[in-house]
Amino acid sequence: MDFSKEQKGTTSVWAGETKTFHEGSSTVPVFNTVTYAYDDLDEWYEVAKGNKEGHIYSRNTNPTVQVLEEKIRILENGEAAISFSTGMAAISNTLFALLKPGDRVVSIKDSYGGTSKIFLEHLPKFNIDVSLCDTEDHEQLEKEIGKGCQLVYLESPTNPTLKVIDLQRITKAAKKVNAIVVSDNTFASPINQNPLTLGVDLVIHSATKFLGGHSDTMCGLACGSKKLIKQIFQYREIMGASLSPEIAYNVKRGMKTLELRVQRQNESALKIARFLEEHPKVAQVFYPGLKSHKGHEIAKKQMSGYGGVLSFELKGGYEAVKKLLHNMKFVHLAASLGSVSTLAGPPRTTSHVELTEEQRKHLGISESLIRYSVGIENVEDLIKDLEYGLNKI
Ligand SMILES: *Cc1c(COP(=O)(O)O)cnc(C)c1O
Repeated sequence: MDFSKEQKGTTSVWAGETKTFHEGSSTVPVFNTVTYAYDDLDEWYEVAKGNKEGHIYSRNTNPTVQVLEEKIRILENGEAAISFSTGMAAISNTLFALLKPGDRVVSIKDSYGGTSKIFLEHLPKFNIDVSLCDTEDHEQLEKEIGKGCQLVYLESPTNPTLKVIDLQRITKAAKKVNAIVVSDNTFASPINQNPLTLGVDLVIHSATKFLGGHSDTMCGLACGSKKLIKQIFQYREIMGASLSPEIAYNVKRGMKTLELRVQRQNESALKIARFLEEHPKVAQVFYPGLKSHKGHEIAKKQMSGYGGVLSFELKGGYEAVKKLLHNMKFVHLAASLGSVSTLAGPPRTTSHVELTEEQRKHLGISESLIRYSVGIENVEDLIKDLEYGLNKI
């Protein structure tokens, strides 16, 4: 079914599930099967050759998994989509499927930690050169891309200081040198931002975050043209980072409430960011929805909401971070983001623990920075909780 006229709240619920399934089931069953049996050898042959629709083996395709892929395909306006066991599997399989020795990649210094490791440690082993630019320096990105490259890898907003990249502008530069543009859309979610409609070729999600939404399942997704997704599919088929049908079911169930959750998280995060910005114990707040944020104007142009993640720096160093977080009730001190429950932690302990203090400083990550991923709790309770903790500093 074509969902071009429907709003995302409707699409989140219905995409991939407009028909009924086995025995009239209104939700897709979990097809816990490894293999698919045929009564007729000729039909089996036609499916195996790809001449006829059908399934052969669940490492390749599975009906439950396909429903999830259809949901993200429609939410991101793609021609095709593919799922993986984790977000990192989506990223690594995409990169290795599309690149070859001698290629050059241009990306940013603030990409997700795991992605950064692929750039710095794994691609160079295969003689693939990677140039990492200062994330907000659009001129530097354009200059590096202009030197020629095969792939541009972006992420916006970034972790943990929510830096924003003008996706349309950088895509334009990439098109001039015929480079493929990949963008990690995890922080925005498809509710707030659709990179494919801004010209990006492939969008990637760690569905472990907002899409699953409950901090109970790991999954990765990629979405784009049929041609590129086919290339990635043929790589994943052999490398084997496929998604299990049970996890696919959980993620697609989570996605039914995606718009509801993200709308609430957008509203709450903005209120919390404004509250923190006014608080005397807070030195700085990073949230693209704030006028004071460096990337606000670009975010306003390319996002319909500013997301559920913010970060803020306290006055008083790491001791103040401990005082605040140890005195709050409605927050798990944990890594990850995009869950129904509020999660917070200092990047020096979570995403950037392997860096030195000096390296963190270079990325604008101070020792008193806290990343705060807003859940779906009542925002008044969350603000009261923050206020209580801040008063303990
Ligand atoms: C978490 C995350 C990933 C990695 O996803 P996993 O599901 O943990 O493998 C990639 N990119 C971003 C932006 C993330 O937040």
